[in-house]
Amino acid sequence: MSYPRQNIYERDNYTCQYCGFSGASDFESWQLGWFAIDHIKPRKHGGSDDDSNLTVACHPCNSMKSATDCNSIEDGKKAIAIKIEERKRWFKKYVLENPNIKS
Ligand SMILES: [Zn+2]
Repeated sequence: MSYPRQNIYERDNYTCQYCGFSGASDFESWQLGWFAIDHIKPRKHGGSDDDSNLTVACHPCNSMKSATDCNSIEDGKKAIAIKIEERKRWFKKYVLENPNIKS
């Protein structure tokens, strides 16, 4: 059995190209990463299915990048960094500083 787009996984060493999280070392890491193949430039923005437009992404990066229009891995990293900052602010306000949450 081969994985769909296994050539992309092998090229990228089963590692998220946005954050560097590797799923290659053991099954737990592979499972935790919940990896997918991402279109760097999303199809809805005219991105192709060419291998050069495909990359391995872990689930958090893939979800945060979503369909943000990007032209490169670096663009994706920037889009993800912005989302992480938004999420940090949300977490601080609604979890860390929420008096109803018991730690
Ligand atoms: Zn990632």
